[in-house]
Order: sequence, then C-alpha cells, then structure tokens
Amino acid sequence: MGVLAGKTALVFGVANKRSIAWGIVEALLREGATVGLSYAGEVLEKRVLPLAEEVGIDFVEQCDVTSDEQIAATFAKAQAKFGTIDILVHSVAYAPGEDLGGRFRDVSRDGFKMALDISAYSLIPLARHAAEIMPDGGSIMALSYYAAEKVVPRYNVMAVAKAALENIVRYLAADLGPQGIRVNALSPGPIKTLAAAGVPGFRMMLKYSEKVTPLRSQVTQEDVGNVAVFLASDWGRQVTGETVYIDGGYHILGLTMTEEDLES
Ligand code: NAD
Repeated sequence: MGVLAGKTALVFGVANKRSIAWGIVEALLREGATVGLSYAGEVLEKRVLPLAEEVGIDFVEQCDVTSDEQIAATFAKAQAKFGTIDILVHSVAYAPGEDLGGRFRDVSRDGFKMALDISAYSLIPLARHAAEIMPDGGSIMALSYYAAEKVVPRYNVMAVAKAALENIVRYLAADLGPQGIRVNALSPGPIKTLAAAGVPGFRMMLKYSEKVTPLRSQVTQEDVGNVAVFLASDWGRQVTGETVYIDGGYHILGLTMTEEDLES
C-alpha cells in the first residue's frame, strides 16, 4: 500500500506531460493518493483531459487563479466531490514575455502586477479555500526557484514573484500551523517545461547547471514528485515553512566553478 493511501490531493498547474505538476501527480497516484486536477484555460483542455483520463482522474476543473469566483467554484466542486482534502499543490506561474529577459530596470508595472498576482498572491486564496476542507490538517506545497534568493540572469520579475511566494509560504505556515496544516515551497533546479521555455536562453542554463551542480545532474519531474510525496505524507509531519531544494545541491555553491575549470 502506498504511503499516501487514503489521502486526497488537489493539484493546480498541469499544462501537459512535461509540467512539474504532472510529475507530482504521477508520484501522488503511485503512492495511493486520490487526485483532482485544475488547469488554466480552454486551450489546455485538449491536453489535460486526455492525460487525466489516461491515469483515471475524474475530477478536472478549469480555474484561472486570477479569478476569485473561479477559485471559489473549483473548491466548492472539490468539496462536493471529495468532501475533504489533505494535499494542495500550487504549480502555477506566469509573467509576460517582455518582462523576462531584457533589463531588469525596464520591468513594467502591469507585468509586475500580473506576475505577482498569478505566481505569488494566488497561493493565498488557494490555501484559504483548501484549509476550509482540510479538517484533519494537511500539506500545501508551492513551486519556487532559487532566483527568489540570488540573482539569476533573465528571471527578472519572476524572481521577485518567487521571493514573494516563499515569504507567503512562511506566513501561511505560521497562520495555518495551529490547524495542523503545513505549507512548504519546493525549489527545483531547471527542468525543461512550457513555462521554462519562456525564459530566454533556458537551454544554456540547463546545461550549465548540470556541469557545475555538485551532483552533476539534471533534475526531473519525478525527482520533484518524490519530494512532494515526502512532504505530503506523515514522514514530513514536522516540516513547515521551508523551502526544500531539489537541485542537486546547486544552492550550496558560492562560486559556480568546478575543479576542472580551475585547472584549465
Ligand atoms: P508549466 O508551464 O508546465 O506550468 C505552469 C502552469 O501555470 C501551467 O499549467 C499554466 O497553465 C499555469 N498557469 C499560468 N497562468 C495561470 C492562471 N492564470 N491560472 C491558473 N494557472 C495558470 O511549467 P512548469 O515549469 O511545470 O512550472 C510549474 C511551476 O514550477 C511554476 O511555479 C514554475 O515557476 C516552477 N518552477 C519551474 C522550474 C523549471 O525549470 N521548469 C524550476 C523551478 C520552479
């Protein structure tokens, strides 16, 4: 029997098979959880519905996280379907293309608002609604990135959104802790996905981090899924308010040069 048998998860952010959220869904299902999905727009319906069908998921709801009405409706449907839930996954981010790359000083006010609204603020209403149907406590996870802490070229406004997201995670952890609800951020190294393709030069970043990261590895969706299982399960029951890195150790580096670089 899987470690998540008897638990129910609601996952926001599956766009396609490459999505980090999909890696998490597969890991949650493997460990015996019941999973419901929410996706962003009609364009994605064609991709997400067949995927859900493949793995036997029969709760798939469209929800744009900029809409309070759609969020409320999605959770009302989740409550009608599942009664209660134990796990919430927020794997959602967006910034206008013109505000990624380019000069940081040129980030637009509208781009800033949109990136922060979708990629950071949205965790708050999702967590509030989730908490209402988590009477036995639960585990909430959001996807972040190291650019929240240190400057990574071209992440610009998305880096600012991730910094906000990680602080929201800490405030939610303090707010919801007394209800037995844990809130954590997962911070994976670069993975090739639809969202990542929006960052100019992402391929080079992927290659570079594989070269210098202590484990000399590329992170996979499955790697993220496995850490999500740990945090969703009772094994992670004393872990909250954390940013958990799944990056082959990249974040411990002070200078990203290898021994080989120094010798050459
Ligand atoms: P992805 O494109 O597969 O997922 C992003 C999701 O956000 C999509 O499903 C998209 O539909 C959804 N989304 C965007 N706007 C939305 C809205 N208004 N309402 C609801 N959903 C909306 O890409 P991904 O790389 O799997 O991204 C998932 C998360 O992982 C993001 O938070 C991203 O920043 C984070 N992350 C990605 C990487 C990476 O290298 N790919 C690394 C660290 C963190």
